[in-house]
Amino acid sequence: MNAVVGILAHVWWSEPEAEIPVLTRGPADLLVPILEGLGLSPSSGLWTDAAHTLGVARSPAGLFVGWLDVGWLTADEPFTEMRDITHLVERPSPEPLAHELGIALAEAARSRVEHLRGCDRCDERFVPGQMFGAACCHSCAVRDGDACG
Ligand SMILES: [Zn+2]
Repeated sequence: MNAVVGILAHVWWSEPEAEIPVLTRGPADLLVPILEGLGLSPSSGLWTDAAHTLGVARSPAGLFVGWLDVGWLTADEPFTEMRDITHLVERPSPEPLAHELGIALAEAARSRVEHLRGCDRCDERFVPGQMFGAACCHSCAVRDGDACG
């Protein structure tokens, strides 16, 4: 490690406050009204829309925006899996971030629609994780007690 990197590393680690996003610093969390204004509410660690199709994850490194798929830990243990994630860095003023968030959510919604697949049995459309096989959804496969053709 050369001297400059050593100094930067020292500054980085000795000032953890500098890593905290401006919008989440202090008692007033300015991001909450932005997220609520976009129709999102907290759900299992994410901010999601009412239909649970889009999600925003908050972290010290910024915001991660994506559409919500279903993943499976085991055949009986589904979990929410974010897809096509966009990373947004939190900004000192809320307006640009609200604008970027709106764009990222719209892109995520478009991407989700592109990934929906049709069930041959119920004619509904589902995210990939809700499909049992190529041609039918989990609900139809369970109801009919068979695997998809
Ligand atoms: Zn179906």
